[in-house]
Amino acid sequence: MKILNFVRDRWAKIIPRGVFTIVNPAPLRGARPGVEYEAIIGLEIHVQLKTESKMFCSCSTEFGAPPNSQVCPVCLGLPGALPILNEKVVEQAAKAALVLNCDLLKVSSFDKKIYFYPDLPKGYQISQYYQPLARSGYVDIKVRNTRRKIRIRHLHMEEDVGKLVHGEGVSLVDFNRAGLPLIEIVTEPDIRSPEEAGEFLMRLQSNLRYAGVSECNMEEGSLRCDANVSLRPKGTHELYTKTEVKNMNSFKHVMKAIEYEIKRQKRSIEKGEKAVLHTRCWDPERGITVKMRGKALAPCTPHPDLGPVILEEGFIASLRSQLPELSLNRSERFIQQYGIPAPDASVLTSSKELADYYEECIEASSAFGDGSWELNKRIANWIMSELLRELKGKGIGIGACKLSPQALVEMIALIDRGTISGKMAKEVFVEMFETGKRASQIVKEKGLIQISDEETLTKIIERILKENPEVVEDYRKGKEKALGYLVGQVMRETEGRANPQIVNKLLKKRLK
Ligand SMILES: [Zn+2]
Repeated sequence: MKILNFVRDRWAKIIPRGVFTIVNPAPLRGARPGVEYEAIIGLEIHVQLKTESKMFCSCSTEFGAPPNSQVCPVCLGLPGALPILNEKVVEQAAKAALVLNCDLLKVSSFDKKIYFYPDLPKGYQISQYYQPLARSGYVDIKVRNTRRKIRIRHLHMEEDVGKLVHGEGVSLVDFNRAGLPLIEIVTEPDIRSPEEAGEFLMRLQSNLRYAGVSECNMEEGSLRCDANVSLRPKGTHELYTKTEVKNMNSFKHVMKAIEYEIKRQKRSIEKGEKAVLHTRCWDPERGITVKMRGKALAPCTPHPDLGPVILEEGFIASLRSQLPELSLNRSERFIQQYGIPAPDASVLTSSKELADYYEECIEASSAFGDGSWELNKRIANWIMSELLRELKGKGIGIGACKLSPQALVEMIALIDRGTISGKMAKEVFVEMFETGKRASQIVKEKGLIQISDEETLTKIIERILKENPEVVEDYRKGKEKALGYLVGQVMRETEGRANPQIVNKLLKKRLK
């Protein structure tokens, strides 16, 4: 009887479940001359957690397996099957909550979210409705040099559902995805522009990747985002009727969809149409949002078979101690500590692995370098241009890179000592990247020694000058470009091995 009361008590609390409660003070209808509107945007993000097995059974979570090959009675929801919570899911979800600055709730619980859809054979999804895992977080964003907090209302765990594939006259369902562990992150309506939404998603993705809790890949579906958009006259504080936009599969499309939706709602208000709460689908081909359906509210009831999740102090403290320095802070530290420009710091901290790689390079460079910002910047340049290009070309991440930070720095040292030229270094670099060999070894094998000997270079210069009397004449007449041509000839003659600085110096001296 007591339990029944408890359940009834909870049922009574059911309220429309959206990002924000709608107040709708006075409907925004009709054109109001001179009124400026601002967009009120909230996001709901689903992130798949990185675990070996599913949320309540031991089925594999691997992506790309043949349809319905990773299923069992539990994730298919067959009668009598009993879900058992995977501890790793709680650990990953709690870590995610901490890097999003949320307060972890000591006790959270699971509920059944009841609705009917072909991708959900058991008729309910296991989620956390009444007592989520965490609340009141935030993500720092930086747009046009201004840092701002986007608040997170709550973060909860839930299982994924199956995937429908629609063909010609037939719809198929794959349950490999059913029961995968997800977290749902719901923001407060703090976002004001498509640009801020994009930056927020980028930071959220970066924080979660830094913590190692998810791949956060929108293309593979390990990060999905719905946007709630409404408008209000600028300077007012009420929340008006929103629409929910779904089906965006990249950050760029989220931004485009929001941008479209803002324009559409403004037109609709000006036409005097009545705003209705509904869901819209983003059509990337046409670049518009299309009305899908009215927003259905799914009732929730406590799950009878799953006990509460209780987080102990010691567990939270140990997770806290494992947290990494996050991208925005790390990027600001890079600017301060290494003197590199902000755009470089932003690229280098875009992933934890890349930022670690850069810092290992800096550490290795202390053996030969002076720790100057020029050297730090040159290391950054090599990573951002050559290394990232090769990685992209191969389609691999920095983790699979054969070229160690020490080897890269050793190569830069060879340039500084004048052993090889910057141009030769590019050739050496590609070889190092392919084979993992040290720069000194490649230089020896390929005979790539730079010619810095003045006597040898002077002989070559004399010959070039004799062969190009008219160019020499041009230079003497004040044509600066002529010098570049002559340097180029010397470089060609030496197959790029001449030290360009010395050639420049000798040529200028000789032509005076
Ligand atoms: Zn299963």
